[in-house]
Amino acid sequence: MYAEVIVDIAHSDVDKIFDYRCDETVARGMRVVVPFGRGVTTGFVMRVKGETDVPPEKIRAVLRTEGAPLTEEALMLADVITGRYRVPMALTLRLFLPAEMRTGKTSERYKTVCVPTDAEASFSDRAPRQSALYAFLKERGEGDAAYLRENFGDAALKSLEKKGLIRTEKRRVFRDPYTGVSGENVARELTPAQQNAVDVVKNCDRDVILIHGVTGSGKTEVYLRLIADILEEGKTAIFLVPEISLTPQMLSQLRARFGSRAAILHSGLSAGERFDEWMRLREGTARIAIGARSAVFAPVENVGLIVIDEEHDGSYVSESSPRYVTFDVARLRARYNHCKLVLGSATPSVETYHRAREGEFALVKLPERINARPMPEVHIVDMRREVRRGNATAFSAALRERLKTCLDKGNQAILFLNRRGYSQTVICRDCGYVAVCENCDVSLTYHSDENVLKCHYCGANYKMPPACPQCGGKHLGYVGTGTQRVVTELRKLYPAARILRMDVDTTSGKEGHYRILKQFASREADILVGTQMVAKGHDFPGVTLVGILDADMSLHFSDYRSGERTFQLVTQVAGRSGRAQEPGEVVLQTYDPENYILRFAANYDYEGFYAHEISMRAATMFPPFAKIVRVMVTGEEEKATLAVLKDVYEKLQAIYAEHAEAFLFFNRMHAPIKRIQNKFRYQVLMRLVDSAVLREVYAVCAAQKNKDVLVYVEENPANLS
Ligand code: ADP
Ligand code: ZN
Repeated sequence: MYAEVIVDIAHSDVDKIFDYRCDETVARGMRVVVPFGRGVTTGFVMRVKGETDVPPEKIRAVLRTEGAPLTEEALMLADVITGRYRVPMALTLRLFLPAEMRTGKTSERYKTVCVPTDAEASFSDRAPRQSALYAFLKERGEGDAAYLRENFGDAALKSLEKKGLIRTEKRRVFRDPYTGVSGENVARELTPAQQNAVDVVKNCDRDVILIHGVTGSGKTEVYLRLIADILEEGKTAIFLVPEISLTPQMLSQLRARFGSRAAILHSGLSAGERFDEWMRLREGTARIAIGARSAVFAPVENVGLIVIDEEHDGSYVSESSPRYVTFDVARLRARYNHCKLVLGSATPSVETYHRAREGEFALVKLPERINARPMPEVHIVDMRREVRRGNATAFSAALRERLKTCLDKGNQAILFLNRRGYSQTVICRDCGYVAVCENCDVSLTYHSDENVLKCHYCGANYKMPPACPQCGGKHLGYVGTGTQRVVTELRKLYPAARILRMDVDTTSGKEGHYRILKQFASREADILVGTQMVAKGHDFPGVTLVGILDADMSLHFSDYRSGERTFQLVTQVAGRSGRAQEPGEVVLQTYDPENYILRFAANYDYEGFYAHEISMRAATMFPPFAKIVRVMVTGEEEKATLAVLKDVYEKLQAIYAEHAEAFLFFNRMHAPIKRIQNKFRYQVLMRLVDSAVLREVYAVCAAQKNKDVLVYVEENPANLS
């Protein structure tokens, strides 16, 4: 017999099938170790067959098989993804296995247990330990060898074994990341609106359902009910959330509800834990896969439901190769399994809402908060007036006053701003010099706690220069506000308040944001200051005030989605306020108080926002009415990169010439950030009204074989930097 094997080497040169001789234990989907060149490598079996064209003296044999095979569904998905994004099959197949399984860095864990045999036992009085051990095992049925050795002694264990009274067995153990996690299992009675949402999902004739529910409307409860019902039917479920939403509260809620039937995959797990959670899903002992975007590849079979919570979240688009879109993969899986795909959000992306309105998706609304709690009132504050009054701090008088009231009442507050670090950049007030990263061509950010300048793209640290490197002047100053500066100002204003800061700098490491969110949830702090991360779906009952310090920041990006993003951010962060008994408030500080996006957000008017936005997109021909496609060409060698760019550009130009009617725009240029991590970045930017030519664009990029220059395609990129 022969196996067709894709070797696990992510290079297009070896992206083809190799034949190996094998025996009947080898089957499609298995991972195998095979000789390759002068070494050995792992690979995936795509097919087993009776004959081969490879001459017998040339064919080599599979050395051994490894681990759990991929499912038939995984192989089908890999095929589609490889075809669509034109990436090597080996790279795509990697998506379906946890990295630690592929690299063999961790593996299954076993323990040894002792079990009494049926042999007749008798002990002399001089062996009390042996008889005690034997009695213990007879009573319990079995015992962990390490435990027995410690409590009864190694000698006793060995003697019993020699006499044939006990035998040892190897048992598989699963590392449980949630041993310390507990929570109350409160399956609540659904509100009529929630029940309606459940009914629509189950009974509608669409395969995709969008649940548009305001913040605090109880979407989570709807998902959990749907999942519980699917389990009852003997099927499995996939529940996707942004990584940041996997908070300690969420984990304990899921754990309490589903126990060990749920496998929760998140970045805080150790390699061994992730391995075991994956295995539990593959073997079917766990039947709900919960996790961030990569959990869409979970090895569950017979899927009955897929949920994508906070569907608008940018984290659902993978930024590293292969660049898959979570929704697309989820929809493929839903079709394969004939199951429903549920999208949920308080602020659906304009494209998703458009598809729902056009009838492609079913649409169901949860228009009110649970218990008809009011949405927090939003006060728009004109910061230009504050400046005119001589207030140079990050806090308006209105915000300071409300913050005081909030703290006096013993409530909690969240302060949101778009930037991190102490201040944005360092500039020379004499010559205008701006400190930039040597690798990335972006300005550096000053971090006062470490007294260094940091590059937020590559992480490089630089010493703060004593004088301007350009003119020697001594007037180096900072511009902009950051989380650190806000914390410093807060400490002065409210010395008694306990303050937590949450941004990329404070959330690195294994514990990451969990620790901070846990502290805030258990009310070990009064004020949480943070960037985007605090805006996600957290449910803190103690929060009655939210301050948005700089609502304008995201309005001024040169990106067609900046309006949408601002609306989402403001709505989401406002939604953290007043979720329990006491009503909440929001103070929104802006230099542009008449801005229509902010007005819609302050009035919780999603429909108004959408109507405005969609008509603008239609008039200017932006998504969903056209597709923005960017081909990135990046490499360390500028000359080689430019040569590849030229080649790619010429081939794309030929497509453009042939199908001009499909293009609204076509041009090559520097990417807005010209260099990141020492790699030069060039782009060919296109706007397409007809996506049919996309196949050809992918083909052009896939045909590039220069090892040192990376070429890839982005569709409607989340970020055009
Ligand atoms: P969303 O995800 O829509 O923002 P959540 O699911 O976090 O909202 O629910 C908001 C709050 O309402 C939570 O504290 C949740 O425990 C509570 N809740 C949800 N459904 C019910 C219900 N049917 N009865 C009582 N409380 C509920
Ligand atoms: Zn850098």
